[in-house]
Amino acid sequence: MKKVFFTVGPSQNYKSVQKHLLKAVNEDVLSISHRGDFFHQLFLENVALLKKLLNIPQDFHVFFISSGTEGMEISINNLVLENSLHLITGAFGEKFFNIAKDLGKKPVKISAEFGKGLDEDKLKEIDLSKIELLCVTQNDTSSGIVFPMDKIYDLKRKNKNLLIAVDFVSGVPFGDLEYKYLDNVFFSVQKGFGLPAGLGVLVISDKALKKSQKLLDLGKDIGSYHNLPTLYSYSLKSETPETPNVLAIFLLNGVLKDMGKYGIQRLRKETIKKADILYGFLDKSKILSPLVNEKSLRSKTTIVAKIKGNSLDLISFCRKRGIILGSGYGENKQKQVRIGNFPAHTLLQVKTLIKILSEFA
Ligand SMILES: *Cc1c(COP(=O)(O)O)cnc(C)c1O
Repeated sequence: MKKVFFTVGPSQNYKSVQKHLLKAVNEDVLSISHRGDFFHQLFLENVALLKKLLNIPQDFHVFFISSGTEGMEISINNLVLENSLHLITGAFGEKFFNIAKDLGKKPVKISAEFGKGLDEDKLKEIDLSKIELLCVTQNDTSSGIVFPMDKIYDLKRKNKNLLIAVDFVSGVPFGDLEYKYLDNVFFSVQKGFGLPAGLGVLVISDKALKKSQKLLDLGKDIGSYHNLPTLYSYSLKSETPETPNVLAIFLLNGVLKDMGKYGIQRLRKETIKKADILYGFLDKSKILSPLVNEKSLRSKTTIVAKIKGNSLDLISFCRKRGIILGSGYGENKQKQVRIGNFPAHTLLQVKTLIKILSEFA
């Protein structure tokens, strides 16, 4: 039986991935040079397709990297001399903070209780004029908390020099960001794009690029082949500094075209509909309940549910019926389940999942 992956990443493949994979094998994509015309064309097309699908302003730069985690490292290395501020709503925000510490910076953080929103009053205690980079997780996959981005745009309007980095890994392409308020948005493709892992995307404002160049000019360590000035200079040739994951870039091209044709608004509407059905079920279930109480903070793409009993029993029950669920994150592994709700998941699959979940109790 072919399984359906409701895991939060890697997850179910978008329906056309198999077709594009075959095409890649048949059309020599696995052997072509990353310095030739075919690749240049692919690179250019992907940048244009990403800008169109995600509504990224034309003056932003798009670079290809290897993962979401690398996006965190590049953000800190290139945009922070000392002071980053991290708004933490789960384990991925914490990871971002720890990377800043590992890189020898002096990050500060404001943390929310797990599964709750951030106490905004705590922001008032921080002198934002001293902060170089504000780091936020748009959708924290560990807690299922979505960050109210309007608050971030507000902060940017009031602090024009503050650079803002957004971890968009499990929110893309459902989330609709206002890039003009942002400077560094990164994501990988194995979650919402329904692709195999091994490719990340970095969206960079001109201001951020200039800051990294300034740090470089000052003789600071901003990393090597994947620092922003180097990524930028290669992007002018529609290339990456290293031999990239050409296959993943090719598969992304196919899925971007397919999603574009299908319509991003349609994908978003369907995501909301599926999420509403899933939360509706959880709100009524006797054994499962949403971790996040505040409805406006509930992620539509990564849904976290508490469970009475051990989640591994439910996960194995579902597995026997062809459905793969995610366990809770970290110490919540056996207390919670996580359900990915991405464009690759059909309404019918969601209904089947709910049917199986209701048979469990
Ligand atoms: C998965 C995830 C990451 C890590 O991405 P990788 O591509 O695995 O490095 C970072 N942030 C969030 C919110 C994620 O869900």
